[in-house]
Amino acid sequence: MKNKNAKGFKNFKMNDEVYKLRKKVINIIYEIKNNNMNIPRIDVRIGEDKNCNILGKARLKDNIIWITKTAIDRNEKSLYHTVLHELIHTIFGCEHNEKCHLMKACEPKEILSKDKLLEIFRKYYNKYNNLTNKQMEVA
Ligand SMILES: [Zn+2]
Repeated sequence: MKNKNAKGFKNFKMNDEVYKLRKKVINIIYEIKNNNMNIPRIDVRIGEDKNCNILGKARLKDNIIWITKTAIDRNEKSLYHTVLHELIHTIFGCEHNEKCHLMKACEPKEILSKDKLLEIFRKYYNKYNNLTNKQMEVA
């Protein structure tokens, strides 16, 4: 069975309040699906991390993410950024990339709009699903 724990992260037990927090993360995942991206089912755990600066965690290529209550309580754009960041780790297995707004190790001071974040996510999606335009070139 899949290990549902991440080092240093305390999973909250499900109750009405945690369910509501989790729903906010699930809604973002649905938004991606509604934008014509076929992503796998993702395990979402809500809780808190020993390191209070951590907003989320993911296990590479394992379709499981951990999001802190702190991340959910911040603001919509920041949560959107956190969730997309963790999804790229867990779905595509990507590591951090300081040149990428979405995959920097730390959250950027100025976060782009949700549309722009989704656009970056789509680039990863296309790349890892071999949907790049390059593939269609005949050389
Ligand atoms: Zn990360």
